Amino acid sequence: MERRMNEAEFVDGFADALKNGDLFICLQPQINHNTKRMVGAEALLRWKHSVFGMQYPNDFIPVLERNNLILQADLFVFRKVCEFIRKCMDAHKTIVPISVNMSRYDIYNNDYVESIEEIRKEYGIPVKYLRVEITESSTIGGLELIQNVVNRLHEYGYLVEMDDFGSGYSSLNILKDLEVDIIKLDMRFLEGEIGGRGGIIISSVVQMAKWLKTVIIAEGVEEMEQADYMKSIGCFYIQGYLYSKPVPVPEFEIKMEETNHEPLKPAMKLLEAMDSEKFWDPDTLETLIFSNFVGGAAIFTYHKSGQQLDVLRVNEKYLKELGMNQSEEDVIHNDPWWGFGDDAKRVYIKTIEKAIESKEEECCETWRNISSRCCGDDKICINTDMRVIGNADEEYLIYAMIRNITPEKRRYDLLMQNDTKLMKAADHANVYAWEYTVATKEMRPCFRCMRDLGLPALVENYPEPVIESGLFPPDYADLYRDWHKKVEEGVEKLEGVIPLTVGRIPFHVRYTTEFDENGKPVKAYGSATMVVNSEE
Ligand code: C2E
Ligand code: CA
Ligand code: CA
Repeated sequence: MERRMNEAEFVDGFADALKNGDLFICLQPQINHNTKRMVGAEALLRWKHSVFGMQYPNDFIPVLERNNLILQADLFVFRKVCEFIRKCMDAHKTIVPISVNMSRYDIYNNDYVESIEEIRKEYGIPVKYLRVEITESSTIGGLELIQNVVNRLHEYGYLVEMDDFGSGYSSLNILKDLEVDIIKLDMRFLEGEIGGRGGIIISSVVQMAKWLKTVIIAEGVEEMEQADYMKSIGCFYIQGYLYSKPVPVPEFEIKMEETNHEPLKPAMKLLEAMDSEKFWDPDTLETLIFSNFVGGAAIFTYHKSGQQLDVLRVNEKYLKELGMNQSEEDVIHNDPWWGFGDDAKRVYIKTIEKAIESKEEECCETWRNISSRCCGDDKICINTDMRVIGNADEEYLIYAMIRNITPEKRRYDLLMQNDTKLMKAADHANVYAWEYTVATKEMRPCFRCMRDLGLPALVENYPEPVIESGLFPPDYADLYRDWHKKVEEGVEKLEGVIPLTVGRIPFHVRYTTEFDENGKPVKAYGSATMVVNSEE
């Protein structure tokens, strides 16, 4: 008859249960939500009574604690974990580190740390395969006791995890007093919506942990939505039913073999240039700016070796720039290379790597083919300015600002086509032609100009360099400068005879200005033809 056992039954049955296998361990994987690789596991005690069936730790652990049996139970778990790791080592299997729970009552027992050390040595297990979880409630008996335990664990090389962080026993300040290596945040302690108040608390814990460079594992994660939320605030490690329940050792062994492994990495290290942490906190000015004041913006991670890209956050304007009916969720879940052709992808990756290299803002233009059921097919050109704002090992955190420049691009292409024709024509006639861009003061000469006058393909800060070179004589310099001012002011046409080159050969020089749809001057097309008969 299956039922919950009472206190006396637990206490009386404990010694037998240890021996006859009613007490055993289950292991629950910890997974990197980004890469789906396993980063560790937690050992949890199980009690399956032959008659009364499965008993719950929340029932029997407090009983064992009250009756001074918990140290024995915890050491039993530790031994079972070592036994398992030994078996894997002997079989030359790759092993993930396994965490054990240390009851706060173990703290009062001076022998705990020495005892686990003895067992570890007995099995010859490298300490890197073992971690110890303590809870916030461990500080109830006084900070010094637990500090002493943590220090000794660290001396021996164990990583220490703070279990059930935020369950309420102490303030966030505990992180400053206790040097734990890993923080476990239990999603089940969250009240209400993850985007709401709970979300704000969690993201400030994540932020704080990053300041302290502590790894965070989100525990009790059952829904994809929760895991994605944690990822969006920069926490990738997940332990919960979403990936796996705690499973018996043989089952875990199979899982461990089938899944790839990787080590835990601390939160991203900051570049000094920019405080990226602030982007994760919904309360900061930075987030306000991110969501309201900047243009289209996204934050993504880039994994260098796999050239893998993961979008973490995009703002409203980002979605508008893309012009498709998508939500932030859609963008985060969709293939990040959605709409990219091979060329565009190559350009984009090259720009990311340039930004990693230079630590500066880098820019690229990429065409994307986008199609959706509601909006049909479209081809858009996106200008992206990106900058690295954080990194850890091979992984980079990148802030990208985007602008949809399709209309500008289309107009430019059209001009380019006309321009090319013009330049070709100029080459056949006895004409020198060039194009002047008002906004940038850039001049692009025709091939003939380049050949005959030795001009480069692009002249910046026009017309100063050609005045300086003597191509334009000094006595005409101010007149010619004035022309460019007039073009800027919106004069449609200019012409005159100017003696050019050191030989002061008279040329008929003409300018025609081109305007955008708002009547603003964009370009001016210049031409110069030799005055043969000195007609003017
Ligand atoms: P804990 O250390 O916080 O362990 C995590 C608990 O959350 C486990 O419950 C696990 O089964 C459960 N859990 C994991 N993922 C999910 C999820 O997605 N959803 C939900 N609803 N639950 C999830 P379990 O095994 O019942 O253990 C309860 C508690 O008992 C543990 O909480 C720990 O405080 C204690 N305990 C378990 N084993 C030991 C042990 O060997 N020694 C000591 N001292 N305490 C232990
Ligand atoms: Ca635990
Ligand atoms: Ca926990």
